[in-house]
Amino acid sequence: MIYFDNSATTKALPAVLDTYRTVSEDFYGNPSSLHAVGGKADAMLQGARKQIASLMQAKPDEIYFTSCGTEGDNWVIKGTAFEKRQFGRHLITTAIEHPAVINTMHQLEQLGFEVTYLPVDHRGFIDPNDLKNALRDDTILVSVMAVNNEVGAKQPLDEIAAILADHPNVHFHVDAVQGIGKGLMATLRNPRIDFITFSGHKFHAPRGTGFVYMKEGRHIAPLLAGGGQEDNQRSGTENTPAIAAMAKALRLLLTDEDQKVAHEQAIRRRIYEHVAKFPNVVMFSQLTPDFAPHILCFALPGVRGETIVHAFEQHDIYISTTSACSSKKGTESSTLAAMHVPSQIATSAIRVSLDDQNTLAEADAFNAAFDQVYAGFAKLFATPQQ
Ligand code: PLP
Repeated sequence: MIYFDNSATTKALPAVLDTYRTVSEDFYGNPSSLHAVGGKADAMLQGARKQIASLMQAKPDEIYFTSCGTEGDNWVIKGTAFEKRQFGRHLITTAIEHPAVINTMHQLEQLGFEVTYLPVDHRGFIDPNDLKNALRDDTILVSVMAVNNEVGAKQPLDEIAAILADHPNVHFHVDAVQGIGKGLMATLRNPRIDFITFSGHKFHAPRGTGFVYMKEGRHIAPLLAGGGQEDNQRSGTENTPAIAAMAKALRLLLTDEDQKVAHEQAIRRRIYEHVAKFPNVVMFSQLTPDFAPHILCFALPGVRGETIVHAFEQHDIYISTTSACSSKKGTESSTLAAMHVPSQIATSAIRVSLDDQNTLAEADAFNAAFDQVYAGFAKLFATPQQ
């Protein structure tokens, strides 16, 4: 079995599950309880917070635990809108964000907020000048993803941060759900970034985990009101075992990060160089350094993406159409549409997404399967070029 759908989710590591089990058994108290059992769980929780903060070079009270990337995105965006609405009602994002951002923006539009969606070029990148021109006196938030989940384009966060240096009141949010562990740490530590969203299940932690980095001094409204956990910012009894397991997964992910990135790049290159040789392949991801190491998106025009996914499944190889969210709905990729890829090509797109657990031997097996899949579809190709 070859699992190449790591941008949809990753398999929890055995060492991470060991932590989950141990903490479930030995630290089961409610961290808010006054007695010793609760105190022990609270110490575990704060230990996990400290560990994550130190890995991010942040302060422990800048780390807030959530349930997933979607929650983090919703919280930062709506929390900013609700907190700052008397100062302005304009937000800026990009046309290629994950639905967790785009649909949150749509909800705010229904409440009377105004949103600018920055366009992207044919490679999937925003132009920082467009951002500069979009900023207004009433802009309260700029939200830009670190790595696009469909094609892997790394957005120019440092350039955006430089522009926002002149706009200190504007909240700068980065969705780094696809960016963690992918060689972007120096950028994610840019001091102009105010909020970053992370999701545990994308880096071998259990489902139902995530965290938000919120820079000291920034304030947003909580979405979950209740017992006042997470410094009154996110109520709900903390998922201590999963949080401890996430802290461990993050430590493991960031250990030898450079080697892992180089390994993923080598696997991606091997697939890219093989697949790109075929005349009917349209590549969207590129091997240049402005693309993340783990995502490879391409199309076989004339064959629907889901048909290609199932053809690989026959070889026990698991990939996806452009994103897990759009694949079951059968909807077209919003990123490819924003890149002005014609609909009949975009519906033929597939995404191969890697992580450091994958191997070059798996890339070779994928390439061998690709030859058969390609040959099987040859008569369907819309625009044969030979
Ligand atoms: N943001 C991006 C860029 C993503 O790729 C995803 C998930 O694929 C999310 C947000 C949502 O994360 P979660 O699945 O943890 O809610």
